[in-house]
Amino acid sequence: MELVKRRITYCLYLTSEQHQLMLEFLRLHCELYNAAVQERRDAWTLRGISSTKADQEKQLVAIKEARPELIPLGGHALQETLRRVDLAFQAFFRRVKAGETPGFPRFKSWKRFSGWTYKSTSSWRFFPGEKKHGVLELDGIGRLRMRGEPRQLGEIKTLTISHKRGRWYASIVIACMPEREHRTAGIGFDWGIERLLTFDDGTGVENPRFLKKSERKLKALGRAASRKKRGSKNRKKAVAKLGQQHERIASLREDFLHQQSAELVGRAALLATKKLAVANMTRSARGTVEAPGKNVRQKAGLNKSILDGAPAAFLGMVRYKAAEAGIALVEAPTRMIKPSQTCPACGRQQKKTLAERVHRCACGCVLPRDQASAQVCLHYALSLSEPGIGPGVEGASPPAKHETATEYAPAYLGER
Ligand SMILES: [Zn+2]
Repeated sequence: MELVKRRITYCLYLTSEQHQLMLEFLRLHCELYNAAVQERRDAWTLRGISSTKADQEKQLVAIKEARPELIPLGGHALQETLRRVDLAFQAFFRRVKAGETPGFPRFKSWKRFSGWTYKSTSSWRFFPGEKKHGVLELDGIGRLRMRGEPRQLGEIKTLTISHKRGRWYASIVIACMPEREHRTAGIGFDWGIERLLTFDDGTGVENPRFLKKSERKLKALGRAASRKKRGSKNRKKAVAKLGQQHERIASLREDFLHQQSAELVGRAALLATKKLAVANMTRSARGTVEAPGKNVRQKAGLNKSILDGAPAAFLGMVRYKAAEAGIALVEAPTRMIKPSQTCPACGRQQKKTLAERVHRCACGCVLPRDQASAQVCLHYALSLSEPGIGPGVEGASPPAKHETATEYAPAYLGER
């Protein structure tokens, strides 16, 4: 078998001193990036030539002499930043060649600069498992604590440091023997009491018939018990019978949920669903207890619907099974992303009543309600940049985000 490359993303936990040092690295990389963009723009507009990555790499020696603060960043990392400029210009020239009139690659603000990459393993060291999840040591910065659980380790290739919304991430690319290669799917799912699961592709899992049937039987036993005279022997018998039946059903339900959750976790690389609201779990339990006479409270424990708790129990199982398997389960914040009111195709939000089982959007998207909601959750999960999620996970791609790119005055190297 051939080695495959895999990216593992860790969250970094920095001291404020380390954070400042990292910001300084980020500014320097960004400054180098902008200077390289400027030089290439000038070469093109003033002399009509395209300077190459090799030309720019040669200049690095002189640049480092003039700006010794760049040295701790590591030669390979600086070259990688130049390579990013090169990629941007390659795309630019491809479009010029194709007869288009693209804008020049833009200057970047350090606040929006994504980070930097160490192409080789010089200038950094990785100690997996140290201090629980691992420690990353960067030249010029120090030892950084990290969090994230790799599924598999292998030969370490490159490291990319990224900075997003004030948080730092380390993505390590490793080469390893493929393992569980079928698990590349990002799966979104929604759940309910009518139908236990609906996946983002429209397939799903019904509540098994035996559960619905047993539920009717349980209710009948409950009614029978409540008809017997209080304190009578017959009543005790009936209540015991009810309890036995309930236990039997509970264990069947448990088995079914274990089976379904294991199956789901087994075929996913990333799972996404909506967050379970605690109110939903308690409300339905209360609501299903009818009030025939006086013994409501005693019966409440036994008589509550066996299906009511299924989503919560299922989610609990998926949570720990996913954690054991080292795959991410994203529970989307329901109030924020409104999975059942958002169009997975265009992002438009429109209220639906509970009775509306079909999602119909002005953009032409028509889907079963739960499938649409599962897709919205999956899109949300794929848009995150958290440990364990990222490139390599397949799934429906989220609606494109529009970047508001701003141009910034270039900062010339050597002018400070
Ligand atoms: Zn739409």
